[in-house]
Amino acid sequence: MHPFRQYVNPHLAELLEQIQMDKRFVRGEGCWLWDDQGRRYLDFVAAYGALPFGFNPPEIWAALEEARHRGEPSFVQPSFLNAAGELARRLIEVAPPGLRYVTFANSGAEAVEAAIKLARAATGRPRILSTDNGFHGKTFGALSATHRAAYQDAFFAPAEGFDKVPYGDLEALERALAARPGEYAAFLVEPIQGEGGIVVPPPGYLREAREVCRRHGVLFIADEVQTGLGRTGVLFACQAEGVTPDAITLAKALGGGLMPIGAVLCTEEVYTEEFATKHSSTFAGNTLACRAGLAALDLLTRDEQALVRHVAETGEYLRQGLLAIQRRHPRVIREVRGRGFMLGIQFGVDREAFPGNLLGVMGEQELLTPVIASYLLNVEGLRVAPTLNGADVIRIEPPLIATRAECDYALAAIERVVELIDRDDTAALLR
Ligand code: PMP
Repeated sequence: MHPFRQYVNPHLAELLEQIQMDKRFVRGEGCWLWDDQGRRYLDFVAAYGALPFGFNPPEIWAALEEARHRGEPSFVQPSFLNAAGELARRLIEVAPPGLRYVTFANSGAEAVEAAIKLARAATGRPRILSTDNGFHGKTFGALSATHRAAYQDAFFAPAEGFDKVPYGDLEALERALAARPGEYAAFLVEPIQGEGGIVVPPPGYLREAREVCRRHGVLFIADEVQTGLGRTGVLFACQAEGVTPDAITLAKALGGGLMPIGAVLCTEEVYTEEFATKHSSTFAGNTLACRAGLAALDLLTRDEQALVRHVAETGEYLRQGLLAIQRRHPRVIREVRGRGFMLGIQFGVDREAFPGNLLGVMGEQELLTPVIASYLLNVEGLRVAPTLNGADVIRIEPPLIATRAECDYALAAIERVVELIDRDDTAALLR
């Protein structure tokens, strides 16, 4: 089935199938992908943040190859004496102060599972609070903390003990915690919602939420699986508000684009013997993943975090470019939002204003983004990520190494598709 078939007008699904969203990508280097026809594409999805240095970063490959040439053992008990210990020490060095313990995992979801267990063990309380429109992964605990019926219903999720509050709403958080005193172990929150459509909370929200949690004896866990390690123009997104959470989950960028790895960083108070002795996972902390993680941290922190500063500056350049497109086409783009290389374009047209066939293109879901994403891929050679939760947001998450020239390429492509929509030129849009 066409990946977006369910989101578009069925009459147009066949057309979109001919357009082909699926490509056979045979080569990747930097921000670019090549298909089997020799055509190249600029990838501004970057595996939703898991390709910080683009495809096949030579420095990460070199770290893996060096481990091989040394004959370093691939799987041993993660300890302070081996690669896992080295990576844990480096993570603690660069993390907000106070985070002193590291537990490794193999994915973002698994890091979230570990964080939930950590919090329950530390507090002796069962309940987990998270946010509406939030995303934390698709294993059972993470899925229960996620707020998306479409991912949950078939699997009898959420599990018992998982509640949600509106994102960015401090009063709702306070009310929810006060309503069940002594029951919540943790509040789990993304500093910026990624999968939910790049939703930035009001300034001060993270700092205040952290304080509300402290007052209720509830742990504050920042899910930085997507925002972490430079994506928002700072190494950790919660640092933008000077917040040190009780725990931070990481994954995606930590693998340097080559290895799967996740991690939970936490404070000493939270790291119980109970958790330490009863939680583990065979592959967690394996040598190659940790070598990739160490090389990734080297690239992120060298030259006083030059790459992270590049993300802040170039991300702002890209955001300004998108805002300029919005100003030229206000009836097509409703909002541009985000920070660094974690940006979102919220579409949302008044369908009455478009007498052409736009209504047919959008289909029953009233979404433009699947059509825009396939046009950008097939006609413009640009990969972007349409959100499929009904928000009609295109997510733009370039590799952190993306240049201004690459941003210009993306901006020109986006402007052309937005122009077609504004002209109500659906024939060209479905080319
Ligand atoms: N938390 C957040 C904030 C995420 O964005 C994601 C993945 N998109 C996850 C958790 C889950 O990570 P993974 O897909 O590696 O399980």
